[in-house]
Amino acid sequence: MIYLDNAATTQMKKSLLKVYEKYSCENFFNPSAGYFSALENSKELENARKIILKKLGANKGDVIFTGSATEANNIAIKSVLREGRWEYIFSAGEHPSVYNVAKNLIENGKVVNFIPLLLNGKVDLDKLAEMVNEKTRLVSVMLVSNETGAVNDISQVCKIVKNRNPKALIHVDAVQGFCKIRFDISKWDIDFLSISAHKFHGPKGVGCLYIKSKAGLKPIVFGGQQEFGLRPGTENLAGIMAMAEACNQIDVDENYKVVQKLKDAFLSKIDLNAVKYISTESPYICSLSFPGVNGETLMRALENDVIIGTGSACSSKKAGNRVLEAMGYSKEYAKFSVRISFNAYQTEEEVVKAADVIMKKYKELLERLR
Ligand code: PLP
Repeated sequence: MIYLDNAATTQMKKSLLKVYEKYSCENFFNPSAGYFSALENSKELENARKIILKKLGANKGDVIFTGSATEANNIAIKSVLREGRWEYIFSAGEHPSVYNVAKNLIENGKVVNFIPLLLNGKVDLDKLAEMVNEKTRLVSVMLVSNETGAVNDISQVCKIVKNRNPKALIHVDAVQGFCKIRFDISKWDIDFLSISAHKFHGPKGVGCLYIKSKAGLKPIVFGGQQEFGLRPGTENLAGIMAMAEACNQIDVDENYKVVQKLKDAFLSKIDLNAVKYISTESPYICSLSFPGVNGETLMRALENDVIIGTGSACSSKKAGNRVLEAMGYSKEYAKFSVRISFNAYQTEEEVVKAADVIMKKYKELLERLR
């Protein structure tokens, strides 16, 4: 079986089990306790924070550890909500863990605007410029689309937003970009950024939120003082230490080159006269549409040989594809679409074989459905 749904989740690196075991079975002490062994763990936690901040390229700010990027996204958005006539701006391509928070804000009477997407999957920056004003409280734009691999120009987003309203806050969901494409947040004037360990070969159930300044943030969950009171609850130290180690093990530039070659090799075996392909910058994700065959049907037919996705795992049970439709593709195009996503530890032979199997299965299904 060849696994090509790495945007949904990646296989955890076996080497991380040692780290996980160390902080679950040996150094298992609660980092918030007062005795020496616990204090040692609290130091390790701070060390993990430094590792993540360094990988992000941050020269200020902090990270708070969370149970997922979904939680990090919710905390970023909900901790800055204010009463009054504030406005909130979201890209129309956001993952459900941002998009559905935006919808929830609308249900609660907040003023929310969605930035339309261009045909290439990026946010329409001209439209963003028209939306930002002195009432803008928060703008949330993802770095890499989990559906298409489109990469947004976050530097430009920052310039546009902060020029029009220096006080507006910016949140970036970088889940499909962190440890995959090179970026340096010291070059971006952003306030929040979310990541998730299981997307870069770390364990599931752990992520974090980068925060430029904690001043004025209101907790959305109440409890102890862990994570500066913004994410109370005993930290998942084993998961956090394994996430930091996963991050240490990744050479972003090297992996990028490997995955670019994988995507090129894969696409060279796809008949792009028959199959539609959305060309985007991230080599990790590839959005294809197979005219005449439902994405779901193709995914199931392939399952024993190749595992592919039909879009965000969090919304794959819903009909259609909100993001492709927001880009201007028809409902039908979206219905026939699938998402192929790679990781840097696969081989060219594997992905070439997968492409051949996919094309063969597509032709078979097309014949059968005629
Ligand atoms: N944001 C993006 C862009 C994603 O792709 C995902 C997962 O698919 C998430 C957020 C949610 O991550 P988690 O599974 O850690 O909640």
